[in-house]
Amino acid sequence: MTKLCVPVYGREARKMADTALTSGADLVEIRADLIPNADAQILDEEFSGILNKAIITLRSREEGGDSTLSKKEREEWFERAIDLRPLFIDLELETDRKLIDRLSGEKRRIIVSKHFLSRWSGKIVGETLSECCKLGGIGKVAVKVENAMQSVDILLHVRELGLSNFAFMTMGEGGEISRACASYIGSQLTYCALSENRKVAPGQLDLKTQKRIEGKGSIIVGLIGHPLGHTFSPAMQNAAFEALGIPGAYLKFDIPDARRVVDFIKGSVRLGIRGFNVTIPYKEIAISALENIDNDARRAGAVNTICAETDGTLKGYNTDIFGFSEAVRNSGYNPRNKRALIVGAGGASRAAIIGLWKMGAKIVIANRTPERAEQLVRSMRVFIKTLPLAALDEEKPFSLIVNATPVGMRGFEGEQIIPENLVAKADAVMDMVYNPPDTPLVTLARKHKVKTIPGLDMLLYQGAKAFEIWSGKKPPVEIMREKLLEAIGS
Ligand code: NAP
Repeated sequence: MTKLCVPVYGREARKMADTALTSGADLVEIRADLIPNADAQILDEEFSGILNKAIITLRSREEGGDSTLSKKEREEWFERAIDLRPLFIDLELETDRKLIDRLSGEKRRIIVSKHFLSRWSGKIVGETLSECCKLGGIGKVAVKVENAMQSVDILLHVRELGLSNFAFMTMGEGGEISRACASYIGSQLTYCALSENRKVAPGQLDLKTQKRIEGKGSIIVGLIGHPLGHTFSPAMQNAAFEALGIPGAYLKFDIPDARRVVDFIKGSVRLGIRGFNVTIPYKEIAISALENIDNDARRAGAVNTICAETDGTLKGYNTDIFGFSEAVRNSGYNPRNKRALIVGAGGASRAAIIGLWKMGAKIVIANRTPERAEQLVRSMRVFIKTLPLAALDEEKPFSLIVNATPVGMRGFEGEQIIPENLVAKADAVMDMVYNPPDTPLVTLARKHKVKTIPGLDMLLYQGAKAFEIWSGKKPPVEIMREKLLEAIGS
C-alpha cells in the first residue's frame, strides 16, 4: 500500500504536521531546509511525539531544496538527526554518498534519493532508482517533466523495473498523474500537499484528493487538450466524487504534441486511468485510440469522453450532444418542427446539429466562413441549409437561435454577430458561451423577453453524463451546478 506523506515546513511546520496526521496522512516529511535554524535540538523539541511518523529531509540546493550546508556540515547534521530516531532520514545519492556508506547498518531507516531537475533519460532514471533501492530502505527518484505524456512514458518504464522498495514521482504540471497512479506502479510513498495552496512542488495533489484515491480501484479521470488554460471541469467533477464518497479524482492532462495523444491515452489506461474528457484540439484525433464509439460520437465525428471498459477496451462518447439536448429539454422549450439557427461551424456546432436533428428541428447553419459550414454538413452527411453569416439579415425569423461561436466569451474580442431583429422574434436563444453567463446575446434576448437556455447547462449536463459513464453512478447534478457557478464566480 502506498503511504501518503505530507511535507511540512516553515514556522508552522509542527501545526502542519499535526493537521496532516489527523487528516489521514501516514507520514510527514520534515523539510528542515525550509525551517529556520532547524538543528537536531530544535527538531527534537518541535516534533516531539511524532518523529516515529516522520521523514527528516535537508534538501540541498543542487537537488532543488534550500540547504546550503557543505557536505561535511551535512554529515554532522544528519548524524545528530538520526539519533532522534525518526522513521526515516532522506539522504541524497550524490550529496551524501559517504554518509550513506557509513550508515549502512541503519539502511532500513534511510531513504536514498535523487532528483532529476533537468535532463534525464529512462535508462539513467532506471539505473539510478535501482542503485538508490540497493543502498537504502527505500530508493526514491523524482524527475521533472514537461508534460503528462513524459510522466506516462517514465512511469511505465519504472513499473517494468520490477523493484519493490521504491518511491517514484514526476514533478511539474504534468506530474499529477504520477501521484494519482502511485499505487499502480507500486510506489511505497507519495508526497502530497496539506492543502491546495500549500504545495511545495508542482504536480503534488492535495491530501484530501490523494486520500480519496488511495489504493487501486479508484476512478482517476482527466481532461486531455492543449493548451488547457482555465477549465471548470475539475471543480465540477471532483465535487461529484466527493459528494458521492466515490474514490476518484479529475486531473488535467496538457499534451502539447498531437502525435502522442493516442500513446498517452493507451499508456495512461495501463497505469489505471479510467477515462478522459477530450477537448480542443484533440476531439477527432482521439478517435484513433478507441475500439468502440457510440452512435452520437460517430455521427459527430468527434469524442469528448472516453472510458476504459471492464474488458480493457476503450469506448468513446460525445456527451456534448447529450449536454446540449438536456439543456434544451430542461428549459421547457421544444424544437420539434421549428426553424432553428445554429451560428458557427466548429465542434460545438456539430453537437447542436445532432441534438436538434434528433429533437426534430429544421436546422439552418450560418458561419463566418461559409465553406467551413458546407464542409461540416458534407462530412456529417446531413442535408442542412448553410449560409454566410452576412446573409442572416435577409432570413425569415427562427424559433430557436444557438450561438456556437466564441463571440461573447470573457476575453474574446468581437461584437454581437446575430441581427437584433432575429433575436427579438425568436422563441428561445441559447448561447453556448457560459463565461460570463450573461453574454451580450443573452442580455439582448432578455431585453426582448425571449427565453434563454443557459450555455452553462450544456457544460453541466455533458459533465454529468461523463461522470455517469466513468462511475456507473447517478451524478449529483445540483452539487455539480453549484460548484460550476462558484468556480465561474470566482
Ligand atoms: P471552434 O471549433 O473553434 O469553432 C468556432 C466557430 O466560431 C467557427 O465556426 C468560427 O467561424 C466561429 N467564429 C470564431 N470567431 C468568430 C467571430 N469573431 N465572428 C464570427 N464567427 C466566429 O470552436 P467550438 O469548439 O465549436 O466552440 C465554440 C464555442 O462554443 C466556444 O466558445 C466554446 O467555449 C463553446 N462551447 C460551449 C460548450 C458548453 O458546454 N456550453 C461546449 C462546447 C463549446 P470560422 O469557421 O469562420 O472560423
